[in-house]
Amino acid sequence: MEYAEIGIIGGSGFYDLEGLEEAHSVRLRTPFGAPSEKLMLGKLHGRAVAFLSRHGHGHRLNPSEVNYRANLFAMKMLKVERLVSITAVGSLKEELKPGELVIPDQYVDQTFKREKTFFENGIVAHVSLADPTCPALGRLAQRLAAEAGLAAHRGGTYCNMEGPQFSSRAESLANRQLGHALIGMTQAVEAKLARELEMCFLPLAFVTDYDCWHQSEESVTVEMVMANLKQGVAAIRKLLPLIIRELPRDRGACSCANALAASIITAPPLIPEKTYKKLELIIGKYIPSRL
Ligand SMILES: [Zn+2]
Repeated sequence: MEYAEIGIIGGSGFYDLEGLEEAHSVRLRTPFGAPSEKLMLGKLHGRAVAFLSRHGHGHRLNPSEVNYRANLFAMKMLKVERLVSITAVGSLKEELKPGELVIPDQYVDQTFKREKTFFENGIVAHVSLADPTCPALGRLAQRLAAEAGLAAHRGGTYCNMEGPQFSSRAESLANRQLGHALIGMTQAVEAKLARELEMCFLPLAFVTDYDCWHQSEESVTVEMVMANLKQGVAAIRKLLPLIIRELPRDRGACSCANALAASIITAPPLIPEKTYKKLELIIGKYIPSRL
């Protein structure tokens, strides 16, 4: 049976993982459909790692088309407990400069065109998203970023727009007034789903541009984003092995692993069998049977 302790989802510009020992790929099917791509498995510093390209090879899926549930459930099928989500973002704050790394700790989800819960069709759960990211992983990544040559900021709100168009100037200015730090198109839904799967979630957001609010900047274009992205991807490629090398075996004191403990509301005997079977991997530890 394939297994991975650490999952990594790569975003724009980040379509594979180099340096994996015993590298091989698997195509998984989940009860929620097919992930964006085959998952690449292997070892880094002796730890089992799984990598998935969020948009697929050749960047074929737009942020609304990505099947986030299948992507994350596939990681769960591999028994992943820690999930690293890599994404390119625009900065809404002067001090978060292009070329720098941000580890956001909050999300505002403005998306309206994607599936964002595993709990439906006869089962209801309300997980807490008060603190949607793993504090222990965030601290570790920030500490190691300098070693990888990256200026890193921890904290701040990632505003998740639907896309695929970049913001209008009015939207950009409005998001700034709301105090959001970053604008992006993918990560909030991954944070929500990771919480439902009781995974520790580490967001690595690489700033490629100042969105379009910034007076001195030309408006954001794909060309500008891709040029900065290349540099960021190279730095994150250095950072990931450091994080994996230093990652404690035990998840420790964070509460990520118990997110569902008091969250499932539906009376077990009323959960339809089909729904139970679909979610057994997630809920089996709390509801060993429907009776
Ligand atoms: Zn955690």
